[in-house]
Amino acid sequence: MPTIYTSRYLPTDVPRISIFTELFGTKFDALDSAAPAYIDNHTGAFLTRKDVKTLSLSLAFGMRHTLGAKRGDTVMLFSPNSLAWPIVKYGVFAAGLRMSPANTAYTPTELAHQLRDSGAYLIFVHPSLLAVLFQTLALLGVSTEEAKKRVIIMALEKEGILVPEADSKAWLQLEALLHKGQLDKEEAFDGAQADEVAVLCYSSGTTGLSKGVMTTHRNLVSQTTTAHVSNPTLDPKTDVMICIPPLYHMYGLVTIAMVSFALGIPVVMCPRFEPDSFCSGIQKYRVTAAYLAPPVVLFLANSPVVSKYDLSSLRLIVSGAAPLAPSLATGVVTRLAGMGAKLSVCQAYGLTETSPACTFHSLRYGGEKISTVGELVPNLRARLVDDDEVDVKPGERGELWVRGPNIMKGYLNNQAATANAITPDGWFKTGDIVVRDDEGFFTLVDRKKELIKYKGFQVPPAELEALLLTHPEIGDAGVIGVESEDKSSELPRAYIVPKAGYTSLSTQPHREKFASEIQTWVEGKVAKHKYLRGGVIVVEAIPKSAAGKILRRQLRDLAKAETKKH
Ligand code: AMP
Repeated sequence: MPTIYTSRYLPTDVPRISIFTELFGTKFDALDSAAPAYIDNHTGAFLTRKDVKTLSLSLAFGMRHTLGAKRGDTVMLFSPNSLAWPIVKYGVFAAGLRMSPANTAYTPTELAHQLRDSGAYLIFVHPSLLAVLFQTLALLGVSTEEAKKRVIIMALEKEGILVPEADSKAWLQLEALLHKGQLDKEEAFDGAQADEVAVLCYSSGTTGLSKGVMTTHRNLVSQTTTAHVSNPTLDPKTDVMICIPPLYHMYGLVTIAMVSFALGIPVVMCPRFEPDSFCSGIQKYRVTAAYLAPPVVLFLANSPVVSKYDLSSLRLIVSGAAPLAPSLATGVVTRLAGMGAKLSVCQAYGLTETSPACTFHSLRYGGEKISTVGELVPNLRARLVDDDEVDVKPGERGELWVRGPNIMKGYLNNQAATANAITPDGWFKTGDIVVRDDEGFFTLVDRKKELIKYKGFQVPPAELEALLLTHPEIGDAGVIGVESEDKSSELPRAYIVPKAGYTSLSTQPHREKFASEIQTWVEGKVAKHKYLRGGVIVVEAIPKSAAGKILRRQLRDLAKAETKKH
């Protein structure tokens, strides 16, 4: 008999409707529509809640009637955080389309994979990323004539972004699609249709290359219906959030930008992390809540930049997406207390495949349980299983399996990966090894899956290994994550075997030179978060199982032994 753990919180009703209806229906009417919803950190330009609704319905009209998009079509978003982002996101939902947001650090090869795999036709692109997009379209053999029907420059007039005249003449503009009309009513996703796909983010899951995660309308609605439980203290009258995590990742897309909207909390949008503008944004808008990844918590705890600003308004930091060292949590609380901030630090844990929240801390425990990732969110059930998929005894470590309305539908065009990830009775295998204490708090102790996280960004080892094997002088390769010295992130490290054999590089300096050449070579080919910052090490052989699978645990042991040596 499986041992099934349930959430301590009462289940919520998860209506079978479109996420647009959920956000802009009765819940919308209950909140002040003139209140700011999204604020541009740099310019102070903002959109009220009403603007967001009107503009999204207007864009939905433009996409359906001017561009001819049909229900179920996929639209790509390729842009840093901006005011235009939520308009395109909600416009896509209102029009009944699907959205595939892409990582803005992608190289043309990486972007081409997502564009091809997701089948996205229309592409909304920030003006600063046009060059990468054009290289991508060239790789895919898309003619300029066709691109002119598909590419839409994603900038709102009020953002004051300069679009070069040549580009603004040549390409479709987001603004030009607005104000031509409005959909009377958003596309409905009632009943069984709530299981249709709304979002396709890309994740490598437990193994292999990045795959389209099919997040449904119901998955998204499940996150807004639990918003008041997961964020019990947020108040639209007094709280302001800041958004640094990118909106192309589930954490930014749902946990920050969408849940806040459901709760009526304004969000200060930052296109990227810049130390001074982040701190000045908190000071200027009296930001109270920041949902961050650990490297930014580290910055707040240690950087001298912080001392130049008044951050006393901050009262809640939630850390997610990657492991948070407890010392960092206490460090930031102490530091900001010195500025008068009464700060609490909480953790949240989740995955792209779980839309994303699985566990969270409620403030009632203060800092006491900070080394854990908290308790199960409402509606979620959990099991902990061993390598034979047998449930472990209470208190023992096991792989976390979860089941609930937030579990993705599967991986796009990849039945085998879906079957590996979700059991026939609906348990999703997280690939994370956890321990559950007798109060119901989970601690992440290891990862069964291959994934590496650099500052919260996914680095699929299989992708780097496949790339390394295309190098003419590399015979074999294995990639793992090693902890950074300041403990704020994992760093991807490659072990490589020269094609001509280990002894072909006769001395250590030869091997180091080769390793450093490989490090540079990789940098020319992948997005920045995938750089081999943990180093490249030449070895005699990559440890493999009889079936030829890389034994990553042995590589990790090797890395630990090396750290001890130094
Ligand atoms: P992603 O799909 O990019 O959100 O990555 C999900 C993975 O990030 C999880 O399976 C965990 O391994 C890791 N992760 C997410 N949140 C946390 C957290 N609070 N602490 C440690 N690891 C986390």
